[in-house]
Amino acid sequence: ADFKALGLHENLLKCLDEAKFTKPTKIQRMAIPKLISLGHQRTRTNPFPPQPRDMFMQAQTGSGKTMAFTLPVLNMLLSSKGNINRQSGIYALILTPTRELAQQIYTFIEDHLCKKACNWVVPGIVIGGERKKSEKARLRKGINILVATPGRLVDHIENTQSLDLSKIRYLIFDEGDRLMELGFEESIAKIIGRLQKEYKDNDYLGPLADILPPRRVSILCSATLKGN
Ligand code: AMP
Repeated sequence: ADFKALGLHENLLKCLDEAKFTKPTKIQRMAIPKLISLGHQRTRTNPFPPQPRDMFMQAQTGSGKTMAFTLPVLNMLLSSKGNINRQSGIYALILTPTRELAQQIYTFIEDHLCKKACNWVVPGIVIGGERKKSEKARLRKGINILVATPGRLVDHIENTQSLDLSKIRYLIFDEGDRLMELGFEESIAKIIGRLQKEYKDNDYLGPLADILPPRRVSILCSATLKGN
């Protein structure tokens, strides 16, 4: 199977082609169609269909997991052309245990996906260090896909006024096992608490109501997840 068979938008197929990614990896073949289908089940007569709200993605580094969760998010936002701008809201949140990993994912989304396939979609990153002021300014200007480390995101939740997390429809824990090991539980609990408190259903989303998944989808990625 090729990427086209997975249901991706032609703009994304073009980027993949240019980057010489010809064949999806196993995790991409499994995850991408499932995640894409979540955004297309809402109808007027059945506005809140039952759907799997969570996905466990067991995948090692090197398996192509980053594209497995970023392509469906971009695919969803590609249908939003003309309906969103950077101020419309944050639609996806990707949490990672390290700054380096966050930086890698952000750079991939920005350089390989957004710039080439949908330049109206704005990715952002908050990972701490010396750049708190510029992070804050960027959050204020508006971001559609946010990549963050948990501690710094909590800092912004508590200190950046009018940070709006109510529209997040994809919540991704990258390297979820390490997120737990490194003692981020408290930060993650705070983030999820805030998401629950702010959450607004699609009736608040205007033109995006038929594009976004009707409820938030959580994706837990881990190399070591054991089924039981
Ligand atoms: P990841 O597992 O997400 O860290 O990706 C590992 C590496 O594989 C990255 O450098 C990707 O650019 C590359 N990669 C991801 N998917 C594919 C694919 N379908 N074909 C070739 N390379 C890929």
